[in-house]
Amino acid sequence: MPIQVIFEKCTGCTVCVKVCPFDAIRMMDKKAVINLDKCTLCGACAPACKFKAILLEKSEAGSPKSDLRHYKGVWIFAEQRKGKVQPIAFELLGKARELARDLETDVSAVLLGDRLEEEIQELIWRGADKVYVVEKRELANYLDEPYTNVIVELIKKYKPEAFLCGATTIGRSLISRIAIKIKAGLTADCTDLAVDKEKKMLLQTRPAFGGNIMATIICPAYRPQMATVRHKVFPESPSDMKRKGKVIRENLDGPILESRTSLLDIIDEIESTVNIGDADIIVAGGRGMKTPENFKMLEDLAKALGGAVGASRAAVDSGWMPYSHQVGQTGKTVCPKIYIACGISGQIQHLVGMQSAKTIIAINSDPYAPIFKIANYGIVADIFEIIPILTRRLKEVCKK
Ligand SMILES: Cc1cc2nc3c(=O)[nH]c(=O)nc-3n(C[C@H](O)[C@H](O)[C@H](O)COP(=O)(O)OP(=O)(O)OC[C@H]3O[C@@H](n4cnc5c(N)ncnc54)[C@H](O)[C@@H]3O)c2cc1C
Repeated sequence: MPIQVIFEKCTGCTVCVKVCPFDAIRMMDKKAVINLDKCTLCGACAPACKFKAILLEKSEAGSPKSDLRHYKGVWIFAEQRKGKVQPIAFELLGKARELARDLETDVSAVLLGDRLEEEIQELIWRGADKVYVVEKRELANYLDEPYTNVIVELIKKYKPEAFLCGATTIGRSLISRIAIKIKAGLTADCTDLAVDKEKKMLLQTRPAFGGNIMATIICPAYRPQMATVRHKVFPESPSDMKRKGKVIRENLDGPILESRTSLLDIIDEIESTVNIGDADIIVAGGRGMKTPENFKMLEDLAKALGGAVGASRAAVDSGWMPYSHQVGQTGKTVCPKIYIACGISGQIQHLVGMQSAKTIIAINSDPYAPIFKIANYGIVADIFEIIPILTRRLKEVCKK
């Protein structure tokens, strides 16, 4: 039994009932009884019991790693598709450099594939001090099993203290498998990463409870500290061709490269809609736009600026704009040079999708709208008055 109550010690004080977040403990005949269908073995009850009446048996997965000091360096997974490293890797490298500075360590990229010479160099120019490379025909394209096996081997051998991965389709599939195999934790979909400089620990921030709060998660007892980050949350690190780095090639062979699945074909998706994820300028509208027709006004402004139109979930839910334009926690994460928020209040679920934009301009009639707290420029005005004036003026300026 992984958890049990020692009845002789239980005094019926009910503290465990109160601390159990899963409502799994009830009092019967003044003794605590645990409902194993509800209990998740989270461990909240055992330390709360002053009488040591709850015994929680730690599984291997639950036993903290004792040799944390041996884990060094921040690693990123350099996702490649068709032999080209994806922008998410450069975004992770930029953040990893900041984290490594605070952790007083170095940054490494892990690159798997086949014939990747130019990409290795680019990773160094973009911020990697070391690149761990495994080049094999079997790794040319992503496959769950060999990629997981190879990275697990590398982690076991080199022991990084943090491992970051893009929250892409590939990244999500890969890192969860790695986490299970090495028995580490994983914080998915982080919107920010920082370091507790005193404890030298990774602070992993992500929306929780339906996006109503931002939770900062730590992993004090397990290594590596693992997190995924969505595309466009962090800016790409610039390329510095003077940077030098070390290339560590691992020659792995045999069953480690085997896969029960095989890749038949890669079919490129044909995008029929505008990809706001790639736009440098986004003009986004919210509930304040009031009708779908009024989005034409934003399209004109976006056209004058050479940008794309985004929308809040309220606007999308109202059917004013298609979902592919939605910015935010359940929409796209964008990182344009300029983001103009029109009639958007600035709820946290919207902000997590656009807060890393370089310049944020907010137009809202309510001077207390939360969007103004993160805006670089704020215009307190009626959108229906200000946007036509702005568009006209921009067209005039652009003509000159
Ligand atoms: C789990 C979850 C996930 C979510 N995911 C997302 C997400 O991905 N993206 C997202 O956007 N939201 C998301 N939401 C919803 C989010 O909480 C907000 O409800 C939503 O962002 C509000 O949209 P809004 O700012 O357009 O509307 P409102 O909050 O209603 O704001 C409208 C704003 O327009 C202003 N306004 C009105 N008329 C004018 C005018 N004439 N001129 C100028 N200003 C005017 C008002 O002052 C107000 O500030 C999510 C919520 C949950 C619970």
